[in-house]
Amino acid sequence: MTAQLIDGTAIATKRRARVAEAVQKRIAEGRSRPGLATVLVGDNPASEVYVRSKRKACAEAGLESFGHELPRTASQAEVEDLVARLNADPNVHGILVQLPLPDGLDEERVLNAVSLSKDVDGFHPVNIGRLSMKGREPLFVPCTPAGCMVLLEEAGAPFKGANAVVLGRSNIVGLPAAMLLLRRDCTVTICHSRTKDLAAVCREADLLIAAVGRAEMVKRDWVKPGAFVIDVGINRVPDASRKSGSRLVGDVAFDEVKEVAGAITPVPGGVGPMTIAMLLQNTLHGAELADRG
Ligand code: NDP
Repeated sequence: MTAQLIDGTAIATKRRARVAEAVQKRIAEGRSRPGLATVLVGDNPASEVYVRSKRKACAEAGLESFGHELPRTASQAEVEDLVARLNADPNVHGILVQLPLPDGLDEERVLNAVSLSKDVDGFHPVNIGRLSMKGREPLFVPCTPAGCMVLLEEAGAPFKGANAVVLGRSNIVGLPAAMLLLRRDCTVTICHSRTKDLAAVCREADLLIAAVGRAEMVKRDWVKPGAFVIDVGINRVPDASRKSGSRLVGDVAFDEVKEVAGAITPVPGGVGPMTIAMLLQNTLHGAELADRG
C-alpha cells in the first residue's frame, strides 16, 4: 500500500494566494494593509532565517512587515517596552516574538505583554487557555498546529470519534495540536518522553501527529494501516551523498511508513510551509479584528 501524499507546499500556496487576494480586496476598499511586526532578540542564526522567510512571505502576499532587532544584551524592560510600542501602533496587526529568547529573558512575561488581539503566534496564555477550554474561542491559534489541522482536513481525515495520538507535548506544537484535535471530537492521547510503549500507543492512532524532534523515530510497525500521519519534525542528519553533507528528515521514517499509512506529509514540503501560510492568515485576521475596533 502506498499512502496519499499530503502536499503541504501546494496547500500552503493555495492558502497564501487566498490571503493575498483578501489583502488586495481590503486595500481596494480603502481598508488598512495588514502589518506584521517581528521581534528578533540576539543573533541566533536559525531565528534570523525564520524571521527573514516570514517577512519575505508577507511581502509576497502584500502584507506589510516591520522588522525589529534587539541585541542579545537587551534587558527584559527593553523587550517589553518594544512590545508595548507595537501594541499601540495602529499599523501593526500582528506581533511575532521569535523564540527562543536569549538566556536571562523571561519568555512568559514577554508573551504575556503581547496584546491579545495582535497575538498572531497564539502563544498568549489567555489564547492558549481559551483553546483548551470547552465553549471558549481563542482569538488566534498557534500556526504550526493550525497548519497540521488544515493538512488533515485537506486530506479528508475523519475527525469525529477518531483516535488521535500526538507525539510531543510542547507549548508551541504538541499541546495546542492535541487541543485542536479534541475540539474536533477526536479521542486524544498525548505522548511524551515518559510514555510507556510508544509504539503500541501510536498503533492505535487513526490520526498521528509526530512532533518530537527525533529523526525518523516513528517506524512502519508503529502505524495503523490507513492512518493519517502528519510529520512536524525537522531534523538534520548526515548524508555523504549530498553536497552539503546533510539532509532534513522528519520524526517519521517516511519511506517505510508511506507503505502502511493512508496519507502522510513529507519533510520537507509538509508542515513547514503551512506554518508560514497560517501566520499570514493570522495577521490578516488581526487586521480584521482591528477593523471591528
Ligand atoms: P520540543 O523539544 O519543545 O518538544 C519535544 C516533545 O517531544 C516533548 O514533549 C518531549 O517530551 C517529546 N519527546 C522527545 N523525545 C521523545 C522520545 N524519545 N519519546 C517520546 N517523546 C519524546 O520540540 P517542539 O515541539 O518545539 O518541536 C518538535 C519538532 O517539530 C522539532 O523537530 C522541531 O524542529 C519541529 N518543528 C517544526 C515546525 C514546522 O514549522 N514544521 C515548527 C515547530 C517545530 P517531554 O515533554 O517529556 O520532554
